[in-house]
Amino acid sequence: MIDLHTHTDRSDGSTDAADLVRLAMREGMEALGIADHDTLAGYDAALPLATEAGLELVCAVELSTRPNEPKLPGKRQPSVHLLGYWLLSPPSDEFRCWLRSQQESRRRRNLELVAKLEQLGVPVSLDEAEIYGRNQVGRPHFARVLCDKGYVSNMQQAFDLYLADEAKASVEREEPTLEEGIQKIRESGGMTSLAHPVRLPQRGTDLASLLRRLIDMGLDGLEVFHSDHSPADTAEYGELARNLDLIPTGGSDFHGENKPRIRLGTGINHNICLHYSFLENMREMFAARQHRTSDTL
Ligand code: AMP
Ligand code: ZN
Ligand code: FE
Ligand code: FE
Repeated sequence: MIDLHTHTDRSDGSTDAADLVRLAMREGMEALGIADHDTLAGYDAALPLATEAGLELVCAVELSTRPNEPKLPGKRQPSVHLLGYWLLSPPSDEFRCWLRSQQESRRRRNLELVAKLEQLGVPVSLDEAEIYGRNQVGRPHFARVLCDKGYVSNMQQAFDLYLADEAKASVEREEPTLEEGIQKIRESGGMTSLAHPVRLPQRGTDLASLLRRLIDMGLDGLEVFHSDHSPADTAEYGELARNLDLIPTGGSDFHGENKPRIRLGTGINHNICLHYSFLENMREMFAARQHRTSDTL
C-alpha cells in the first residue's frame, strides 16, 4: 500500500514528521508522499528517518493557487490546489527559494488577520497561533486559539464566524496563479497534478475544457483517487485522465487529528487502496513525458 497525499504539522496536519514515518511503517506502507501546503519542511524532516527505516519517501508539495479565470467583481474565488511530485530528481534550490518567498505573503496575511481579530474583540496574537503552527501559521492554527480562549465553541465555528473566505476577519492572501505554480514546479523537475478535482466548481465538459487549458500550461496529472471522491467521482476522473492523457495520482489527504475521519493509506471508510505499481506508473508516464519534451527541444 502507498499514500501519496499526506500532511504533517509543518503545515496543517497534526502529525509530526517522525510520527508520520512511524505510522506509515506500522501500517506496512511501501511509499509515503508528504505534500504539505506550500512547504517542504515536513518532507525534509522525515527524510532521514524514512531512509533509516527503509520507507520510500516521495517529495511533494500542495500549492494554493488562484485560478486564472477572470475575477467576478467583489467575489473572492476559492483557491485551486496544485500538487507537485518530484519523482525523478529532487526539487531545485530555485524552487525552494521561491517557496520561501511565498511564505512572506502568508506572514503579511497573518499580521492583517491579527489586527482584524483584535478589532472584532477576539484578540489572538501571532505568538499564540505559532504554538500550534510552529513552521507555518495558517488559519486552522488561529481557529484552535479562538477555541482555547473560549471565543468560539469549536473549530468550524471559528471559520464560520471569523476565518472563512467570506467571514468577518477574512483577509485575502496573495497567491501565485495556477499557471505560475505549474511553471515553477515543472522548471524544478517536478510533475504537476490538479488536486481533489471534486472541489472544483466545474464538472463534465466544463472540467474537460478547463483541463485542456491547464494541459496547455503544462499540467501533467489529475488526482483521481482522494478521500473526498465517491466511487462515481473516481470513475469519472479516471476516465478524464485516460482521455486527456493525464497521469493519474492519488492519496488520502491525511491530516492526522485535524481531519480524524481520514486514515493514512485507506482514506475514509477504506475508499482508497493504492498499490506500489500506481507510483511506478506515475514515474514511468512522467519519465516518458520528460523524454518527449527533451526530444522536441
Ligand atoms: P490558510 O492556508 O492559512 O489560508 O488555511 C487554509 C486551511 O484552512 C485549509 O486547508 C482548511 O484546512 C482550512 N479552511 C479554510 N476554509 C475553511 C472553512 N470554511 N471551514 C473549515 N476549514 C477551512
Ligand atoms: Zn491541508
Ligand atoms: Fe488540498
Ligand atoms: Fe491536501
